[in-house]
Amino acid sequence: MNHPVLIVGGGIAGLTTALALQQLHIDFLVLEAVPEIKTVGAGISLAGNAMRVMKRLGLANAIKHNGHLISSMLIQDEHGSTLSLMDAAKLSSEYELDNVAIHRSALHQVLLKAISQNKILTNNKVTDYTEGDNFVEVVLQNGNRISGSCILVADGIHSSIRKKLLPQSQIRYSGYTCWRGIAENTWGIEKVAVEKWGTAGRFGYVPIGDNKVYWFACKNAPQKNEQMQTMTLAQLAENFRNYSHPVPEIIRQTPASELIWGDIIDLKPISRYAFNKVVLLGDAAHATTPNMGQGACMGIEDAWLIATLLQQHANNLTEAFRLFEAQRLKRTHYIVNTSYRLGKIAQWENRILTKLRNTAFRLVPASVNEKQVIKLLDIPVR
Ligand SMILES: Cc1cc2nc3c(=O)[nH]c(=O)nc-3n(C[C@H](O)[C@H](O)[C@H](O)COP(=O)(O)OP(=O)(O)OC[C@H]3O[C@@H](n4cnc5c(N)ncnc54)[C@H](O)[C@@H]3O)c2cc1C
Repeated sequence: MNHPVLIVGGGIAGLTTALALQQLHIDFLVLEAVPEIKTVGAGISLAGNAMRVMKRLGLANAIKHNGHLISSMLIQDEHGSTLSLMDAAKLSSEYELDNVAIHRSALHQVLLKAISQNKILTNNKVTDYTEGDNFVEVVLQNGNRISGSCILVADGIHSSIRKKLLPQSQIRYSGYTCWRGIAENTWGIEKVAVEKWGTAGRFGYVPIGDNKVYWFACKNAPQKNEQMQTMTLAQLAENFRNYSHPVPEIIRQTPASELIWGDIIDLKPISRYAFNKVVLLGDAAHATTPNMGQGACMGIEDAWLIATLLQQHANNLTEAFRLFEAQRLKRTHYIVNTSYRLGKIAQWENRILTKLRNTAFRLVPASVNEKQVIKLLDIPVR
């Protein structure tokens, strides 16, 4: 390749891709719109499939050190009775796959620290691109142009390049809205991620290291609803007052500055990721609802695959991108569609339906749950 690989976007997908390329000695440049790469003050879970990539990139220990290892995931009803349990510790010991929850800014710091800083150009918003026979050129908002061998588009769910390539692609509103927060972990919550599904909404919490606990709350609501947007922590605590300990307490002890609100949206699965010398990655390609905690994990999987394909097909980038699309469409569509359906079920409010759902979840044998997790984490069948 005569020119660097151009990565548009310095989110989790873009930075992990940069790191994978760096590890394989492939020249690259990250073009990021904002002047300083910062993230929202919330947590994130990295499941075994993402941690497998982080291990290959030499970052697994740093992520574990800055985050919190999770050994079980519980779904409960609002009174705290278990509907489903996933034993992450068992998976971890059988398949050497860790599950880590971490503050988003800590994850970004780990990624940024590992990448050569002169390869990340902030304050460089890409507005357009052109393709020549053996090169591409991106156009920046400041009028400058940068040449590259190809473009890896990782500019998120609202990707302007995807909109240009696929104007018919559709953002979907899930039907529920979400608050996220971070509180001091004064309850001794250790190694467990909990979700409580009830008739007043869904509440989840997980320890993320540094003695903090990250939480989210989802409620059914019309999109862009002002009442939801302006909801205070006191009002949220009131909404979840009947949920078992420590839900109302976690909300009440969250500083107002740590509250983030946003509607849950995804990208209706699209049929193409590869466009000659341009390829879509991460949320730009397959943004999902967060119900399976797999959005960033999918972007991290993309990162490793695209880097290895670029190494193997350095003389035929179009072929590398075609292979990427062939390997990623089915898996990412599965995650997006399953997560969308799961979210609908988790958000049921009707008392009779929730009782039926809870009974059905309790009856699912552990072996069936484990099979689903093995598929989710893309663990090779032995
Ligand atoms: C409530 C919630 C909870 C979640 N929890 C989890 C979880 O637990 N686990 C998990 O795996 N995933 C989770 N996700 C999903 C995860 O956050 C996303 O999938 C992930 O952050 C997407 O990363 P990305 O790099 O593809 O895109 P983004 O993070 O959106 O990054 C895109 C970057 O591109 C930049 N950019 C945009 N346009 C341009 C341009 N024109 N030129 C240059 N730069 C540009 C942006 O500034 C940004 O830095 C959650 C999502 C939500 C909403």
